[in-house]
Amino acid sequence: MVNIKSSRIEKKISRLLKAIQPTARLRILFGIGQGEACVCHLEALLGYRQAYISQHLMALRKDGILETRRIGRFIFYRLTNPKLLELIHRAGDIAGIPEKELKALTQMEPLNQCDCPHCNG
Ligand SMILES: [Zn+2]
Repeated sequence: MVNIKSSRIEKKISRLLKAIQPTARLRILFGIGQGEACVCHLEALLGYRQAYISQHLMALRKDGILETRRIGRFIFYRLTNPKLLELIHRAGDIAGIPEKELKALTQMEPLNQCDCPHCNG
């Protein structure tokens, strides 16, 4: 017998995990970390093409993972829920990745190739 209520719960969790599952999206989420980042920043940081990043950002926004904030001509993306980063860190921990290496992925340092207000303060 199918328990309707619990299958709804599992679907919700599955939808969330699916939304963050592609490696490109994990890289983007690490890149954003607990801060915020614009497309040009992620382009400089990750080396992906802008159209490719935009496509993932749009999907992440549609899935409720990211929200946006506009400053002038820049649109910044940030996590709707900071716990998402904890979830990804926990998954990395279970996968055997040292905490230090995981933390290093979310360092927000100014990038020379980026002219966003955070890098060009
Ligand atoms: Zn930047």
